Amino acid sequence: MTDCIRKKIVLLGATGSIGSNTLQVLRAHPDQLELIGVSAQSNDRKLAEICSEFKVPYAVLTDEKAYEKAQAEKVFDSSTRLAGGNDALSELAGLPEADLVLVAVVGACGLQPTLAAIEAGKDIALANKEALVLGGAFVMERAREKGIRLLPTDSEHNAIFQCLEAQPTTQLDRIILTASGGPFRDTPLAELEKVTPSDAVQHPNWSMGHKISVDSATMANKGLELIEAHWLFGLPPEQLQVVIHPQSIAHSFVQFIDGSILAQMSPPSMTFPIQHCLLYPERAPAVEPTLDFQQAFQLEFCPPDPQRFPCLVLAYDSLRNGGGAPAVFNAANEIAVGRFLSNELSYPAIPHLIEAVLEQLAARSVPDMDSLLALDAEARQRAHDFKL
Ligand code: NAD
Ligand code: MG
Repeated sequence: MTDCIRKKIVLLGATGSIGSNTLQVLRAHPDQLELIGVSAQSNDRKLAEICSEFKVPYAVLTDEKAYEKAQAEKVFDSSTRLAGGNDALSELAGLPEADLVLVAVVGACGLQPTLAAIEAGKDIALANKEALVLGGAFVMERAREKGIRLLPTDSEHNAIFQCLEAQPTTQLDRIILTASGGPFRDTPLAELEKVTPSDAVQHPNWSMGHKISVDSATMANKGLELIEAHWLFGLPPEQLQVVIHPQSIAHSFVQFIDGSILAQMSPPSMTFPIQHCLLYPERAPAVEPTLDFQQAFQLEFCPPDPQRFPCLVLAYDSLRNGGGAPAVFNAANEIAVGRFLSNELSYPAIPHLIEAVLEQLAARSVPDMDSLLALDAEARQRAHDFKL
């Protein structure tokens, strides 16, 4: 294959967990994929290593101080053009040469670069779920208007996307998102008071960034994914279900009106959905071992217990209430997780904080982007100020 038909990829959040899974896929398919832009918040050394390995011409450090330090210390080769700050991240998302932008930064900071990629007419692979939870209405409307191909990279949504591809959604009855149940699926409820950040980030099946690992333990992650699925696939909350599936092999189900259910299955590694998005609509051999039916294994399913997972209930309520509620849920959760990780809050306080901030702010309507961002900021402030 010649250079000119390689797909040119921009990877936002290259130093994270999704980032490193993406690099694995890129290493395996150098004839089809070329990395032309990367970003990180502050890890200049790791980003510079990625740039020299993949000969990346454009890089961004969003943290201005990290950017200035990296410039002063000449951390990057002269063949990489380094820029700093959030505006530079949005510019990178709209890089004229790019064919596809993979948004893998963590948190609500994914919204602006996603919108920038849409405005620039890029195909987008979206791993960052918070962008849709916060600004789903705006993202989907602009993506439709601009005719953008929005490829879901989150494993559940990627599974649903693959299952729906050949089927008319008018005959869809429901979507069923699978969830591992996280590290505390079987922990006695009374012991949850004592769990520490290091317990919470030990996920049984997936190796992920800290924020999403805590979200998986509380199932706030599945809550965010319900809202993400609502925007991506246009279904109301009544048609979105969650089932616990401890093995994380069936990545979600779609059920049609005649009762038939389709699933997408692969081992629990993000390289599978990432590769699907990067090469879409082509397919190529996987970079990791695939499922082996010559070995016995079992798949189990059970409904989630609302008492154990109050964050999931709060997310459902936010989706039903609509308006600003999902944005408030997202902001309050992000701050609660940060405060838990820095030992300021107990694990059971996470849903208490989210509920308190929702009670104060969820009724707000968000007619435009400015009011949405103002609500996000206010929810964060209240979540910071929250005391038990
Ligand atoms: P991570 O914490 O491992 O990495 C986050 C990346 O974003 C890093 O490159 C970091 O430098 C960058 N970043 C952090 N804060 C930033 C900021 N304020 N501005 C700009 N860049 C910033 O996170 P992750 O686990 O890779 O998750 C990334 C996104 O993908 C999240 O939205 C998560 O929900 C989603 N996701 C992750 C997984 C997974 O397996 N890790 C699976 C599905 C979806
Ligand atoms: Mg997921």
